[in-house]
Amino acid sequence: MVLRAILDHGPVARSTVARLTGLSPAAVSGHCTQFLARGLVAERPQAPGPRGLGRPHIPLEIDTGRYLVAGAHIAVAHSTLALMDLRGRIVADDRRPHRGTDPRQVLDGLAARLPQLVEEHADGRTVLALGVATGQWVDPDAGVIVDHPRLGWRDVAAREVLAAATGLPVHVDSHSRALARAEQLFGAVTTRSSAVLLFVGAVVDAAFATDGGVHRGPRSAAGSVAHLPVGPEGTGGPPAEPCGCGTPGCLQSEVSEPALVRQAAARGLDVADFRALLDLALAGEPRAVALFRRRAVLVGRAVALLLDVFDPEVVVVVEPGAGRLPECLDVMRAEVGARSWVCDDPASAVLPSSFTGSVLPVAGGAVALGALYADPLGPWPALPAVC
Ligand SMILES: [Zn+2]
Repeated sequence: MVLRAILDHGPVARSTVARLTGLSPAAVSGHCTQFLARGLVAERPQAPGPRGLGRPHIPLEIDTGRYLVAGAHIAVAHSTLALMDLRGRIVADDRRPHRGTDPRQVLDGLAARLPQLVEEHADGRTVLALGVATGQWVDPDAGVIVDHPRLGWRDVAAREVLAAATGLPVHVDSHSRALARAEQLFGAVTTRSSAVLLFVGAVVDAAFATDGGVHRGPRSAAGSVAHLPVGPEGTGGPPAEPCGCGTPGCLQSEVSEPALVRQAAARGLDVADFRALLDLALAGEPRAVALFRRRAVLVGRAVALLLDVFDPEVVVVVEPGAGRLPECLDVMRAEVGARSWVCDDPASAVLPSSFTGSVLPVAGGAVALGALYADPLGPWPALPAVC
């Protein structure tokens, strides 16, 4: 709570942190002394005040000059490696396509790329930990990617492999939970309270954040919304695509990036990949825009259902149409307005990601920073011990 208050309000005086957290001034002071000793916070130098006032309220802020975290996001076709400072700002990122999807090859490739990124961009700062994020089913306690059908991965011990290869503490989580955590820690003010996060990329999944934490469920499988039946009815498009689960009309089979690329080809749009299709839509190509509008309708149906099931203050939609094509966000909100039973103000309840344009670099780093902010006085090998 103390470190979060300094993150949210810094530079901030200890007395203000005590007021914000409801903790005693002595407790806040004790924690701040330990954070200072660990180099996680710094006292902001102040101009000398009038004589005789001593050292009244020297403000504290998160120290971004000593430590970084590394983050890795593993997508279906590519992986992104990033460095992030303790305020959640991306220092550097590097995205590379996969040569194959063998787990060992992908994980070893990530570990091999990290030293160069650190050498070129860390600027003398020490990397505290590596966070790893990917889609589908991830068990953070075991550090295992349990099931990622699109990658063909099952029970991949990502933490063990990457810890051995990098020598760093490694934290692993789903990218939806990581991005929900990133919204809580570093997101826009409107997304910091209770939120459902819906990730729409090559895979589709969700996370539910509340009371400063993110719900996992006993099997860490919470948020598996890929097979929500949203159907293509009413969108004016082609009939439902078959889904791997055997039922047509699932959310993921209708709106995933590979599905959109196939839909584009069926409409005579020659695009190499999803990025090219997005570029066309951003440039106003009518058929590409129509595909993103159709996607917005179907995603809006899922958002309406999530609003009704969880009644969160906001649903954060991680989807480039919602983030970068204002008309798509309007379409999505209109569908929510028409379908949700509990949401009477879609404009304030349905929001794009705070990290549009950098969600993948943010996701990995947020896994590591989430762990740091959850336990800043824990056993972090690169930090001085605290008593
Ligand atoms: Zn399905």
